[in-house]
Amino acid sequence: MRIVMLGAPGAGKGTQAKKLIEDYGIPQISTGDILRQNIAQGTPLGKEAKGFMDRGELVPDKVVLGLVEDRLKQPDCKQGFILDGFPRNTAQAETLDKMLAGIGMPLKLAISVDVPFEDLMKRLTGRRTCRSCGQMYNVYFTPPKKEGVCDKDGGELFQRDDDKEETIKKRLQVYESQTAPLIDYYSKKGLVRKIDGTGTIPGIYGKIKTELEKIK
Ligand code: AMP
Repeated sequence: MRIVMLGAPGAGKGTQAKKLIEDYGIPQISTGDILRQNIAQGTPLGKEAKGFMDRGELVPDKVVLGLVEDRLKQPDCKQGFILDGFPRNTAQAETLDKMLAGIGMPLKLAISVDVPFEDLMKRLTGRRTCRSCGQMYNVYFTPPKKEGVCDKDGGELFQRDDDKEETIKKRLQVYESQTAPLIDYYSKKGLVRKIDGTGTIPGIYGKIKTELEKIK
């Protein structure tokens, strides 16, 4: 199974991808997560990316494409993968197509998770992540039992720097202008399945699974 998750920041791509990896045993490749890891580790790549991310802009294609290419070569991707947050623009999508054609592993599906624009703001400003296990919460919709503390492992919950209001506005603009056109790009290839991204997390997941079962 080789899938791309499309959708605006806050649409729930990452949450759904994490459920898919548990179920299907294939890796989630989140360029945002990889970039954040690099920032946390203070690598040169992280230093290069940080300014773009803090401003809500896209990190240059050459940086991101290199990361993805390396990741796709890892043996755990042989059985498939879920790309989350990549591609983010047409140039990335075209390069991905070439990379995958080169290794004989074309994409099977692009899942587009649709959430109305007004809902995205609350989802993003309310988002908190566990520093140790990555579990996500939302202070409005799915709060932890104890404020600031992960239910799963007691880790500290933090708000991403780019989930602050001004940056979020910029990220949503960037999505509209650069990433949303990918829905058309993949539609022309017959790969898009649109999923209503409002409702409960298990409910949305059920709809995604129904689509995935069809391609098995
Ligand atoms: P995400 O966690 O996917 O929302 O990504 C957070 C930030 O990382 C984005 O706002 C971008 O600055 C950067 N980023 C993540 N993925 C990409 C990508 N495929 N291309 C360029 N920048 C990216």
